[in-house]
Amino acid sequence: SYEQILETRKTHLTPNLQAHFKKPLVIHAGRKQWLYDHEGRRYLDMFGGIVTVSVGHCHPKVNQALSEQTAKLWHTTNIYMHPKIHEYAERLVAKFPGDLKAVCFVNSGSEANDLAMLMARLHTGNQDILTFRNAYHGMSPYTMGLTAHSTWRYPLPGVNNGILHVMNPDPYQGVWGGAACRDSPVQTTRNCNCGPNDCQAGVQYYNELEQTFKYSLPRGKVAAMFAESIQGVGGTVQYPKGYLKRAAALVRANGGLFVADEVQTGFGRTGEHFWGFQAHDYTPDIVTMAKGIGNGFPLAAVVTTKEIAASLGMALHFNTYGGNPMASAVGIAVLDVIEEEQLQRNSLEVGTYFLNCLAELQQRYELIGDVRGKGLMIGVELVSDRETRAPLAAPHVLEIWEACKDMGVLYGRGGLHGNVLRIKPPMCVNRADVKFAVDVLGRAIENSLG
Ligand code: PMP
Repeated sequence: SYEQILETRKTHLTPNLQAHFKKPLVIHAGRKQWLYDHEGRRYLDMFGGIVTVSVGHCHPKVNQALSEQTAKLWHTTNIYMHPKIHEYAERLVAKFPGDLKAVCFVNSGSEANDLAMLMARLHTGNQDILTFRNAYHGMSPYTMGLTAHSTWRYPLPGVNNGILHVMNPDPYQGVWGGAACRDSPVQTTRNCNCGPNDCQAGVQYYNELEQTFKYSLPRGKVAAMFAESIQGVGGTVQYPKGYLKRAAALVRANGGLFVADEVQTGFGRTGEHFWGFQAHDYTPDIVTMAKGIGNGFPLAAVVTTKEIAASLGMALHFNTYGGNPMASAVGIAVLDVIEEEQLQRNSLEVGTYFLNCLAELQQRYELIGDVRGKGLMIGVELVSDRETRAPLAAPHVLEIWEACKDMGVLYGRGGLHGNVLRIKPPMCVNRADVKFAVDVLGRAIENSLG
């Protein structure tokens, strides 16, 4: 029963696993963009198991690929070859530009970023790694150092070892606050008026990054810089035009590699491009991916050049499950479904519609400070004051968020203050879903204003 499940969780599961909501949900089934609780009540899933269910819950084609594979072969580990991993490697690297043609499969985003750190340090011979404040790159003891949210860090000795967190080029909450972006009638990151040139706020942030090289890095050398193409856990933070491209050039000029963390932004989610970095007009040296790659099946990968991959040496790096037959079969099926159902295009179309509907809602409610994102990677930042952009108080955010759940829509939450609603549904959502979700959010806000 529901009560028994809650009780078992308290007694037998470690307390770090915190369920969302005052009355936590117990989900028994999922189908496409819908989840069903223990009483059969359905919810529109606007968070996709934290940006993971890319093609839809229990997609029949993915289910079929998995069950065919489980009937044939589960596991060999990597000491024997099996056809699926080779087929999948070919399919996956075909999605990348340039020399990004070598893939190593692992099981989670943290593992992928661990491996990327290792590759960068071995390949360059340098030690220092840069990430953005407010970034999330994982929770393994190694990647916890990359993650730059104090909430997500244990006080481990040496957790920052060789890692520097640089200023986050956040055009909404950052120090430069996107001065140029403030001109738009409704203050949104989306409406930045900088035109075709580099964003002015971006140039200021870039100058600050140069200072880090000058003052903080030994002889100005660096092993790598990591960047999400849009910060996910950090609250859907979009970077100013031109910044990442210039940062990548700076990092390379100082002996380092640029790593794109596409764990949330990959696989067509941002609509316009298959990978988030493509919108920033640069090609990374290493790309890490997880979540949407497997639609919920444990699967992740690092894609890089043959030369960088060679730095791992022969037979030294090993993991038991990476790219096993089942994971590979799922990965191939996910790519098939994205292509056959044109889910990248759907992300763009439905996501743009979503952003427009939310921008309308923003006209009605002062507490919606910013509506931003791309495709189906959207953030709605709730504020107590539009001018100062001060975050809306936590109890008020929670009230709105819970009310949406009670009306059948599951939003995610994120950002340093937890005041950004995160919208990253399975990419099969449609306009009717958007209408419903936005209507529910509007009602939740209205009710909360009493
Ligand atoms: N990178 C990013 C951008 C993420 O959002 C996450 C997970 N939230 C990770 C890495 C770590 O992935 P995992 O939880 O699979 O280890």
